Order: sequence, then C-alpha cells, then structure tokens
Amino acid sequence: MTTAAAHEPTESSERSSSDLTATLRRMKDAQRRSGAPPYEDRIRSLEKLERVLAARKNAIVEAISRDFGNRSKHESLVSEIFLVQGAIKHAKARLREWMEPEERETGFVFLPARVELLPQPLGVIGIISPWNYPVQLALSPLVGVLAAGNRAMLKPSELVPETSALLRDLIAETFPDDQVTVVTGGADVGEQFSRLPFDHLVFTGSTRVGKLVMRAASENLVPVTLELGGKSPTLVAPDFSMSVAAERIISGKLFNAGQTCIAPDYVFVPEASRDAFVEACRSAVARMYPTLDKNADYTSIVSDRHRARLQGYLADAKERGAKVIELNPAGENLESSRKMAPALVLETTEEMAVMQEEIFGPILPVLTYKSFDEAVAYVNDHPRPLALYVFSHDRATTDKVIAGTMSGGVTINETMLHVAQDDLPFGGVGPSGMGHYHAREGFESFTKKRPVFRQARLNTTGLLRPPYGKTVDRLLRFLVG
Ligand code: NAD
Repeated sequence: MTTAAAHEPTESSERSSSDLTATLRRMKDAQRRSGAPPYEDRIRSLEKLERVLAARKNAIVEAISRDFGNRSKHESLVSEIFLVQGAIKHAKARLREWMEPEERETGFVFLPARVELLPQPLGVIGIISPWNYPVQLALSPLVGVLAAGNRAMLKPSELVPETSALLRDLIAETFPDDQVTVVTGGADVGEQFSRLPFDHLVFTGSTRVGKLVMRAASENLVPVTLELGGKSPTLVAPDFSMSVAAERIISGKLFNAGQTCIAPDYVFVPEASRDAFVEACRSAVARMYPTLDKNADYTSIVSDRHRARLQGYLADAKERGAKVIELNPAGENLESSRKMAPALVLETTEEMAVMQEEIFGPILPVLTYKSFDEAVAYVNDHPRPLALYVFSHDRATTDKVIAGTMSGGVTINETMLHVAQDDLPFGGVGPSGMGHYHAREGFESFTKKRPVFRQARLNTTGLLRPPYGKTVDRLLRFLVG
C-alpha cells in the first residue's frame, strides 16, 4: 500500500490499515479546520486538475497503453482526457448556480420565519476505481467531489500499475496531500479502504465486488454510489437499416476492445435480417480494422487472465452448440498476442456463459426475434442493465421501449453516447448500480443539502407552547378542523 505521502510499500496489511485510517483522519481534520471552501477555491482546484490533465496527457496515454499492451491513443484521448476536461469545464461554468442556497416555501403558520436549503460539502470522499478507463473513472468522480468542496482519497486498480502509479504522482504534484491523495494496491487494500469511515464512498467496478463494498461501508453507515456492470442490450427494430446499425454497434462494441461498462453486450435483430446483419458486421470490422495484430487502433485485452476468460466464453458457447463467427479481416494468428479477434456468437442458449456473464470484451451474441415485443420481454426478464440501445426511426417504437423497460441510461440509434453528455447524470439502477455522478447530480451526490429554518424576530410559533389554552384550541380547530 502506498499513499502520495508515503510511497514505500508497507510490510503488513495491519500496518496498511492503520496508515489508511491515519490518512483519512488527517484529511478530516483539515476539512474541519478549513470548513467549506468558497467558490474561488473550488474553481482553483478544478483548474489545477484541468492543467495537469492537459500537461500530462501524453504520459497518461502512454502509461495506459503500456498497461494494456496496446491501447488506442485516440480512444485514450477521447475517453480519458476529453471526457474529464468536458466535465471540468461544465462544472466550472455551472458551479455558481449549483452552490446557490435554495429558498423554499415557509409553512404559513410559521411566517415570517424563513427556510432554505444550503448545499454543504460532505467532507472526505473515497473513490475506488477499475482498470478499464483508469484515469476517467478515477478523475470524473473527483470533479464532482472537488466542485462540491470536498476532499478525496482515491484507490485505483492494481491491474494497470503504471497508470495507477502515474495517477498517484500527478495528484501528489497537484494537490496538498490532505486535499486529494491516491492509495495504490490490490483487492486487500481495496477491502481495507472500503471499511474506512468516509463521508461518502464511490465504487466503480463489478457487481460482485460492489456488494462487498456496500457491506463493508454499512459498518460505518457510509453512503455509497455504486457504478457497476451488467449486460447492456441492443435492440434493432425491423424499420432500421441493418448495415447502419451494424456499423454503429460494432464501433461501440470494439471501442477499447469491448472493455467498457456500457458496451452493447448482445444484440437482437429481426430473424429474417440476421444474415444481413452478420455480413454488415463483417464489412464494418473490415472497414474499421483491416488488420488487428499490429493495428494501433485496436486495443488489447488488459491481461492474459481476461483474454483466457473471453476465450473460455467462446469455447463454452461452441461446446453448447452455438455458431461462432470470428471477424479477423486479414486472417492473422493472434495466439501469442493479447489482442483478440472480434467474434459474433449465433444460436445462443441461456445456459451459455456468454449469455450469463457480462462479456467485457469483443464478443457479440446476435439473437433474433419474430416480433419486436419478444426482444423487449427478454430485456425485462433479465436484471436491469446499465445501458440500453434501441435502433428505430419510429418514435412510437423507441418511446414504447423506453416506457416499458428500465436501465441506467439509454441511447437511441447509436451506442454509448449518453455517457459523453456533460449535462446528463450517469449511473445504474438495481444490479447495475445506485446513485449518480456527472453533471449537477454529481455535485449533489457529494453535497449535503442542509435544510435551515431561520426564526424571525416576530415569533408566532410561540403561540403553540404550553400551557395550552383557548387560543391553542381555536388555532388547532382552524388548522386541523
Ligand atoms: P473489480 O470490481 O474487480 O475492481 C474494481 C476495484 O475494486 C479495483 O480497484 C479493485 O482493486 C477493487 N477491489 C477488489 N476487491 C475489492 C474488495 N473486496 N473491496 C474493495 N475493493 C475491492 O472491477 P474491474 O475488473 O476492475 O472492472 C470491471 C467491472 O467494472 C465490470 O463489471 C464493469 O462493468 C464495471 N465498470 C462499471 C462502470 C460504471 O460506470 N458503471 C465503469 C467501468 C467499469
């Protein structure tokens, strides 16, 4: 375990745990001493983050690529830098408005007292993040945390050690260590981290670990935001062009080689159009990725273990009778590479691992329906997903799907783009997560909206005090009937 303050690895997990506790205590003391930072200080913190991102973007892109084996530079610039910069710009532009106390209506019997809601920082927020977008998923929550005037302890993923070490150093160079600090380490450190008495804990990762984190946080009644995973469905209605849908679905699926929480997990197409859709996917892959092995645009699978997991899904599907179509335009041998060729899986059944587990890689099961309602019913028969994609130009169809299903977010006639909107919140529902960040909702997740009642000099509520007599009787007859 290391922190920005103490970079040396510690000897035992007991020591790590007391280090973490001491770090949090120091941050809480600092928060208590300085109180809620004013608008100008919050803007300065956001600007510092903005500057370090711009100055070190190349180092970030390179570290992520080394950790992955190959991570597309363009995809890193879009997903790790541009999206966080957008969140910072949006927060800076809206912060004054978000920080405004909200005047509320005073009950008429209490007039002329006044009531209001005061947004106040919660304190010190813990952020545990995964490996797939290692900078974005650590820093996007931090934008909301800093805008709301809090301090933060971050625990990035051990699967991307170079990026996590760089993040630790960047943060240490940018912020005082009692304002923002990074703790690196594996699941054991994550486990201790999730037991700390934070004022709020944001966890982005798997549903399995999310449950452990929520259980650990409950010991101290720490409120949690859980950004989890799941299988995000994609429904293509009969009116939509199969080739346009295939192009957009393949581009969403193969961004980061499918290692995206909101990647389209599986797709439903009309039975009669399945072969046309498959051929359109084949051409889309050939156009976007004519080669795979040495192609810098095509991202590697993050580890051998994850590659073996994905290959295992294909082997299991084949064994259970599915047809697997590998989309490898140049017919390259990728055996000794961490890259994996995109694959479509046809004729799936529910028992197959590929239909049970979140795929998180470049495999796309293609399911078919006779009537569109069957596909909608399938979505509703499964856990509520993080994202849902619908392709149709018929507004009645898309409205019906939105009204008849539930998911964390929705993109119509495209994939994944709802997450790139600075003014939209992001978050799952049910097994795909709870709570939101991004946009105003991110600021609010890390803010206590504190109700305040201010009594006036003329205190009419005094009339309701004992000894209760005729005046109170008359008043209550008027109020209660
Ligand atoms: P993971 O759950 O294995 O790990 C996430 C983080 O939790 C890591 O930092 C890890 O060290 C830490 N951790 C591991 N065990 C822990 C424990 N017992 N207690 C506390 N922390 C612990 O997830 P991952 O493999 O890094 O990421 C992939 C998953 O994340 C996928 O399921 C994906 O859908 C999900 N994800 C969700 C979002 C979202 O915004 N909803 C975004 C990206 C990824």
